[in-house]
Amino acid sequence: MKAHDGMYIDGAWRPAAGPGVIEVVNPADEQVIATVPAGTVEDVDVAVRAARAALPGWAATPPAERAARLAALRDVLVARQDEIAETVTAELGSPPKLSQTVHAGVPIAVTGSYAELAATYAFEERTGNSTVLHEPVGVVGAITPWNYPLHQIVAKTAPALAAGCTVVVKPAEDTPLVARLFAEAVHEAGIPAGVFNLVTGLGPVAGQALAEHPGVDLVSFTGSTAVGRRIGAIASGMVKKVALELGGKSANVILPGADLARAVNVGVANVMSNSGQTCSAWTRMLVHHDQYDEAVELAAAAAAKYGDRIGPLVSATQRDRVRGYIAKGVAEGARLAAGGPDSPHERGYYVSPTVFADVTPGMTIAQEEIFGPVLSVLRYTDEEDALRIANGTVYGLAGAVWAADETEAVAFARRMETGQVDINGGRFNPLAPFGGYKQSGVGRELGAHGLAEYLQTKSFQF
Ligand code: NAD
Repeated sequence: MKAHDGMYIDGAWRPAAGPGVIEVVNPADEQVIATVPAGTVEDVDVAVRAARAALPGWAATPPAERAARLAALRDVLVARQDEIAETVTAELGSPPKLSQTVHAGVPIAVTGSYAELAATYAFEERTGNSTVLHEPVGVVGAITPWNYPLHQIVAKTAPALAAGCTVVVKPAEDTPLVARLFAEAVHEAGIPAGVFNLVTGLGPVAGQALAEHPGVDLVSFTGSTAVGRRIGAIASGMVKKVALELGGKSANVILPGADLARAVNVGVANVMSNSGQTCSAWTRMLVHHDQYDEAVELAAAAAAKYGDRIGPLVSATQRDRVRGYIAKGVAEGARLAAGGPDSPHERGYYVSPTVFADVTPGMTIAQEEIFGPVLSVLRYTDEEDALRIANGTVYGLAGAVWAADETEAVAFARRMETGQVDINGGRFNPLAPFGGYKQSGVGRELGAHGLAEYLQTKSFQF
């Protein structure tokens, strides 16, 4: 067990103002592996002041130099990739291969993409008799969740730094260790003091203090809808800019004529990956009634194959929440085709890969984000019915469409109320804007659209 002290503020590890600590638990064996300081309002204040003081210098740093620092940061992340993967496995419980390829690999790709964008983005443009400057928004308060602990930090920090903003990050209390590792990487990359700051702490204390701090110009939050609403209210009350990424209940629409086995297998893998703790997961599979029974059989077989390969959920709270949803699904009349509420292991916060059949659109498990390895298979009668079901939740973050050809899939996808759609198994693109329609959020992350979130315009007329 390692007791970490200090938080990364103004280019150095400084002792926390208060004595409180947060225990970090390995969800695979329930052992406490480390403690980190529980930051207070005072720590947040010191961090925000450091970020404010560093803002003029970083904002005035030429984009090419900001790009060079981001490229150096990417190189440090590459050099420390194994350590990142091991840390995420220890605090989140994700299987080592997933930790390497996704939890460490994606942040490297995203940091690299912003090194390139910072170097090439048009921070100044001409329109008519005006010159339009794209200037940094200011100090960013970033509040991140545990499900992709490094990615969520990088998806906010890298574009913010590319834009010339300075940042204070408050990572999730369940996964602060990879956040500390990231702060070390920032330091090694030679990013100036105060440009990036890290305060570990509890959401209602340190998170709330960050959202409410008058020295923060933009709050970027990813997490639950309940907290997102609070943060949105705080930000609007103080006329701050806000970006919210609040999860989803995405639809995997399998149209007749699609390769059913592939669509089902990829769909199940999408839901089970990261133990279902993915906001963009396609947790509702929509199948035409003629193919319904076959699809359920395929999905149950695919889920059963995950058996031992799936990691635990992040915490006992999260496991209990997911089990509660499984019990609710059964109580509301859905049929368990695979898995169920029992844990497959004696120790650790595991939940069996679960597939529900006979799910109707109004059921709780078809409407609410479960955030666990639970797939609901719904039947539709025709395309209009499929579209109504696909669009019939308060969310709109992601989705998938499978059809005999791309044109047919695209025609359907155009009518979906959602921010991203994978067509016939399209691959993840770190440059494509990511973010939600409806209550899935406000704003976009990744690529040039993600950079634009951290910029504001100033126009000169000549
Ligand atoms: P959460 O919203 O409570 O936590 C997310 C972040 O917000 C953490 O850093 C937390 O410390 C902070 N926070 C909590 N309360 C706060 C407050 N009052 N003010 C400021 N910051 C605060 O999410 P959770 O409890 O970790 O997970 C609950 C549910 O949220 C999950 O079951 C899932 O449905 C959803 N979730 C969504 C995403 C996503 O990517 N959209 C990620 C994680 C969780």
